[in-house]
Amino acid sequence: MKPTPTSPPEPLLAFGAHPDDIEFGCGGIIARETRAGRPVHFVVCSRGEAGTNGTPGQRTAEAKRAAKILGATLEFIPFDGDAHLEVKAAHAIKLAGIIRRVKPALVLAPTLEPNQHPDHPRLGQLVRDAARLARYGGLKELKSRPAHAISQLLFYAVSPDAEPAGIQPVLIDVSAPEVISTWVKAMEAHASQLRTRNYPALQLARAGVNGSRCGAVAAIPLYPNDPLVFASLAPLTRAARRF
Ligand SMILES: [Zn+2]
Repeated sequence: MKPTPTSPPEPLLAFGAHPDDIEFGCGGIIARETRAGRPVHFVVCSRGEAGTNGTPGQRTAEAKRAAKILGATLEFIPFDGDAHLEVKAAHAIKLAGIIRRVKPALVLAPTLEPNQHPDHPRLGQLVRDAARLARYGGLKELKSRPAHAISQLLFYAVSPDAEPAGIQPVLIDVSAPEVISTWVKAMEAHASQLRTRNYPALQLARAGVNGSRCGAVAAIPLYPNDPLVFASLAPLTRAARRF
């Protein structure tokens, strides 16, 4: 059902390979959307077992705290473990089942760029497959829930290395001070990961550069899996370039 001006925003479902991926890659967008009343659910596919810092228990607690700060719900899916994620049909079907249960309009997943943590692009592929399988009526493993067609699959870049070259992103303006402060708190909740690098500073700097590209204080890039479709030219009021 398409939203009317009075209906609440449709759910957003975000997938992360590790407990901090969503927060670092697109936490500002999550903060912005939950503040606007959009229900957001996180699915995290490991507990960061292969990381140098933080135990799986600590990583789990950090993720729960960060999701709470952002106003999102959270679940963990035990797949193959950190650094062992494999692209296989059973995983895509499992994720498709979650899509059928949550019924999101928008789905976020890591970009498919290969030169990053290997779990990130593999999860991106799995989510892309899952978004297709979620609407296939004949899949016997998913018969218990009705098929669901999402509206958009958008990829987020966990790090600068994960940004696809040569693809123009959609820039989401996250300039509002309360959005930025919530995002920073959510990133800082992953304290075990800040021992080696100041990741919040890195992500804020990246958002600052993207914001400067479009006349905003801060912006986060998303990469649509498919061409965006508009009913008319009316929504196309803003571009990054100042002509
Ligand atoms: Zn990661």
